[in-house]
Amino acid sequence: MTEEAFDVVVVGSCMTDLVSQAQRLPRAGETIHGHKFFIGFGGKGANQCIQAARLGAKTAMVCKVGRDYFGENYIQNFRDNGVSTEFVGQTADAATGVASIIVNDAGENAIVIVAGANMLLSGEDLQHALPALSRAKVLVCQLEVSPDTTLQALRLAQENNVKTIFNPAPAIPDLDPDFYRASDVFCCNESEAQLLTEMAVASIEDAGHAGRELLRRGCRSVIVTLGSQGCVVLSGQEASSMLHHVPTETVTAVDTTGAGDSFIGALAFYMTTFPEMPLQEMASRANQVAGVSVLKIGTQASYPSKKDLPSKLF
Ligand code: ATP
Repeated sequence: MTEEAFDVVVVGSCMTDLVSQAQRLPRAGETIHGHKFFIGFGGKGANQCIQAARLGAKTAMVCKVGRDYFGENYIQNFRDNGVSTEFVGQTADAATGVASIIVNDAGENAIVIVAGANMLLSGEDLQHALPALSRAKVLVCQLEVSPDTTLQALRLAQENNVKTIFNPAPAIPDLDPDFYRASDVFCCNESEAQLLTEMAVASIEDAGHAGRELLRRGCRSVIVTLGSQGCVVLSGQEASSMLHHVPTETVTAVDTTGAGDSFIGALAFYMTTFPEMPLQEMASRANQVAGVSVLKIGTQASYPSKKDLPSKLF
C-alpha cells in the first residue's frame, strides 16, 4: 500500500493512437497505400496526467490497460514521464484502448476508438487506489472510462476533501446531476458546453451564458475553453457569480490536438502548487501552457515541460 502523497491523481483513460497518413481516406472495402505511420500516446486522462507531471506535479494515474504490447509500452511512457504506475492495472480480459486514425492530406480524419481495458476500470480499482486518492491535493476525471467509476471517484474525493477537476469529455447528454455537485472546477470546451446546456456556444458571451447554467447545476466553478480565444471562468454562487474572459496570446497554431488536455493538466498543476491563486490567474497560465502545446505536431509529444516555459509561469 502506498505511503506517498500525490499532488495530482487522475482517474481516466489511456489510448494508443495508431496514426496513418494517406492522400485520401479509403472507401468501404478499399485498400490504399499511406505515406506515413506513427504511434502516439493519447487518452484524455493520461494526457492530462502527463502534462501535470511535466510541469512538476507529483502525479499518479489510476487506469487500466491490457496485458499486451501497447499496455507495457504505455506503462513505460508513464515511468519515462515520472508518473506513478502503482495504480495502473493490467487485464487479460480486454486489449489496451486504441484509436486507429487515418488522416488525409487535407487534414481530415476518420477515427475508430476501441476503449477496451479502459471500460474495465472499476470501483474495486478505486478502492485499491484509495490511499492515494484520499490524500491527493487534486483529483482529475473525464468521461473516457465508465461514468459510474468516474462519479464514484469524484464522490470519494469529495468525502476526503480532495479538490476535483471534472472534464465532461466526450460529453454525454443527460449527465447525472451528481457530476456537477461533485465538481470543484467543471472544465469543458465549447461543444461540450453546448451539448450539456442545449444552448448555442459560438462566442465569449454565449460561453458566459452556458457557464452560468452549468454553475446553476451545482459546480463550484466553471471554465469553458475557447481555443484561440482562451477561456471564460465563472466562480461563486450563480446569482452573484463573477465572469471573467481570460484571453490568450495569439500564436501560429500547427496542431491543436490535445490542447484541451494540456490546459487541464496545467490547471491541475497550478491548483496544487498555488492553491491560493485566483482561478482566473491559474486559467491564464494554463492558457499559456496549452498555447505552447499547439506549436508542435502531436498530442503528448507537443506538451511542454517546466524547462521549456518562462519562469514567470512558476
Ligand atoms: P482538443 O479537443 O483539441 O484537445 P479542446 O477543444 O478541448 O481541444 P480548446 O478550447 O480548443 O480545447 O483549447 C484549449 C486551450 O488550448 C484553450 O483554452 C487555449 O488556452 C489553448 N489553445 C487552443 N487552440 C489555440 C490556438 N489556436 N492558439 C492559442 N491557444 C490555443
